[in-house]
Amino acid sequence: MKAEITSLFKIFFSRTYKHVIWEITNACNCSCAMCGLWQKKPSSVDIRTAEKLIDLMHKNNVIYIQLTGGEPLLYKDLIPLIEYIYRKKIIIHLATNGTLLTEEYADKLKKAGLKYICISLDHYEPEIHDSVRGHKGCFSKAIEAVRILKDKNFFLYSSSIINKYNYKNLKTFIRFVNSLGISFGACFPYPDFNKNDRLSNLSDNDLTDAIKELIELKNKGYNIANTNAYLTDCLRFVEKKEARYPCLAGSRIFGLKIDEFRTCWMKKDNIFNLETGWKEKGINCNECQLACFREASAFIGLEQHNRKELFKEFLNFFNN
Ligand code: SF4
Ligand code: SF4
Repeated sequence: MKAEITSLFKIFFSRTYKHVIWEITNACNCSCAMCGLWQKKPSSVDIRTAEKLIDLMHKNNVIYIQLTGGEPLLYKDLIPLIEYIYRKKIIIHLATNGTLLTEEYADKLKKAGLKYICISLDHYEPEIHDSVRGHKGCFSKAIEAVRILKDKNFFLYSSSIINKYNYKNLKTFIRFVNSLGISFGACFPYPDFNKNDRLSNLSDNDLTDAIKELIELKNKGYNIANTNAYLTDCLRFVEKKEARYPCLAGSRIFGLKIDEFRTCWMKKDNIFNLETGWKEKGINCNECQLACFREASAFIGLEQHNRKELFKEFLNFFNN
């Protein structure tokens, strides 16, 4: 564990590193209430194009790639893709709904070089999780995936969007997730991804209460993966105060939608691709607190301004 923390610290303290969140496919076997992707025509990155994109990222100091979707486990070339990224010594993180994982698939992922995974959990009551995900049985499959991945020693945490079903019961929810032996990772509600979203419309008061509770529970020692820096900025966002850790989307953190680099998922701009070459375009924006971009921004902000706190967050994550 100490070796893991030390090697990550060395990597994160190289000041120019970049993060990419890569939607390798938009195909998905769930139809979540807060997400519009499953309504779109499925498409995926071609593996040869993917290799060229990885070369481009490697050349431009990307040290961390989060593979997402859609559901990345549906991507037919996931194993060769991970192997290729691993060979470039880039840290790989996978975000999954956990419904397609088997012992065999987990073994292949591990062998290919994957270590870090977050798994979607929306509620501790199976029926509510399933209704959020749009399919019966998602909860039991996700819990089984947690068991498999824990057994195989992956670093694991939940990806849990604050929604109208869980915001009043966060303590019970966190206890449940922690009882599975994993850290609780909160995600600020999605911006307007699905126009018919029946889940994410929490009032500012409800969100304020929920985030304050998360901060309090983290300070009491509950196993919560989010940094205090991100949670505090979520609170400041709801209170319409300036962020302590500005969003670095487009300059240090990028969304890669299949094969087009974007500032983030909300900005529909394609800022560069294989043909144009690497082109950064930092912007001054505080329109959302989407965890993939804002948690990473807070992380880089801590690395620049408060390494002591970052070290504490690392210890907290790996020791829990
Ligand atoms: S939130 Fe994730 S699992 Fe749910 S439909 Fe969207 S891509 Fe699929
Ligand atoms: S604040 Fe949100 S919308 Fe604005 S650039 Fe960052 S991730 Fe995109």
